[in-house]
Amino acid sequence: MSKYETVIGLEVHVELATKTKIFCSCPTEFGKAPNTNICPVCLGLPGTLPVLNKKAVEYAIKAALALNCSIGSYTKFDRKNYFYPDLPKAYQISQFDRPLASGGYLEIEAEGKKKRIGINRVHMEEDAGKLVHAESGAYSLADYNRAGVPLIEIVSEPDISSPAEAKAYLEKLRSIMLYAGVSDVKMEEGSLRCDANISLRPAGSSKLGTKVEIKNMNSFKAVQSALEYEVRRQAAELDAGGEIIQETRRWDENSGKTYSMRSKEEAEDYRYFPDPDLLPLQIEKEWVEEIRQSLPEMPDSRRKRYMEDYNLSAYDAEVITATKSMADFFEATLQEYNDAKAVANWLMGDISRQLNAEGVEIDRTKLTPSHLAELLKLQDKGTISGKIAKTVFREMFASGKMPAQIVEEKGLVQISDEGAIAAIVEQVIAENPGPVSDYRSGKEKALGYLVGQVMKLSKGKANPQLANKLLREKLK
Ligand SMILES: [Zn+2]
Repeated sequence: MSKYETVIGLEVHVELATKTKIFCSCPTEFGKAPNTNICPVCLGLPGTLPVLNKKAVEYAIKAALALNCSIGSYTKFDRKNYFYPDLPKAYQISQFDRPLASGGYLEIEAEGKKKRIGINRVHMEEDAGKLVHAESGAYSLADYNRAGVPLIEIVSEPDISSPAEAKAYLEKLRSIMLYAGVSDVKMEEGSLRCDANISLRPAGSSKLGTKVEIKNMNSFKAVQSALEYEVRRQAAELDAGGEIIQETRRWDENSGKTYSMRSKEEAEDYRYFPDPDLLPLQIEKEWVEEIRQSLPEMPDSRRKRYMEDYNLSAYDAEVITATKSMADFFEATLQEYNDAKAVANWLMGDISRQLNAEGVEIDRTKLTPSHLAELLKLQDKGTISGKIAKTVFREMFASGKMPAQIVEEKGLVQISDEGAIAAIVEQVIAENPGPVSDYRSGKEKALGYLVGQVMKLSKGKANPQLANKLLREKLK
């Protein structure tokens, strides 16, 4: 594959989390019954006039600033003309030659390398409706709830050189949007959508090859798989002396292949012109500065700080800062319990597993920083063992009860009484002659098994250090 260089650019659409649509006051809420969040404006009926939602502009500026873009002081809306059944006006209000923002970047790490990916532009537009196709293929239904939901389109420079980098770019972009608080960026609900442009060129060449656009990828993994497939397809075509056709191709998840949809449109096909119903915008510097001040600390900066201030490894810091809710939880827990590594271990271990299993973010659970801090303190004091801590965790995650209360109610206090543990140790030695003689003949591993048996008999309540110590003494 080193014969060719891969050049990838991504166009990402992000739905802004405003309460109402961009040019009317219909709600944007997802999952409502079809055609209930609609009005004459977003249905594109004749004689209606769009009125710009200021919050949408604010969120778009916020997103662009988080991506290190400069905000144009003069920007305007244009009509992008095309006919499609989910676009009742037969044009989409978008931005053409004066986008809201340009010249940004974000930093990724992929395949062990750090890299800066340029952002060419960020512009605003309205979303189209949604078509639901009957399985029989006999008809399609149109739902206009989504028509007029504010979008930003984020266009990267063709700086991405591999499918893995593309995936890393999307993950970083998603994380930044979440930190900025401008979108819920859920690919499964369509609030983040991605199209990819990809071309190959002979290694070392500076001229770009013919690009192909890929659509219909529904997860970050799908973006990576589709691009991997396309690299192989284009390389095989070029190897065979063929030519790449400039076209739009559709990713098919089931077959794991891309299929030709249509020849690619050029900008002139859309006959852009300024929307006469919307005034150009003059964006005041003061407003931009105000929005910049409202941005929280971004993931890159937090990651660096966690490595420097708390001695977390690069990996740990990366995992903890991947979402703002997790990073906020981490910092809040440290206010009450001052061992960053212990807190990080819980967040990356049991807590992440539980969150993944339930598909929720940490701020949508009953778990609070106080729960985790109290649990860790109980463990430090020796009130509960590490094993019991896991039991208490599951209970507090489910019920929201404080750990001390759970320990009290369920009688989970650790047994640290030597006499009580000694009795169990005697029983374990009597019942396990095999491992006992193994240990005595020098197999250190057998001790671990015997400690495990003590823990099991005590229902996890025996102090494991004490069990270990007593077993060693008795087996001497
Ligand atoms: Zn409307």
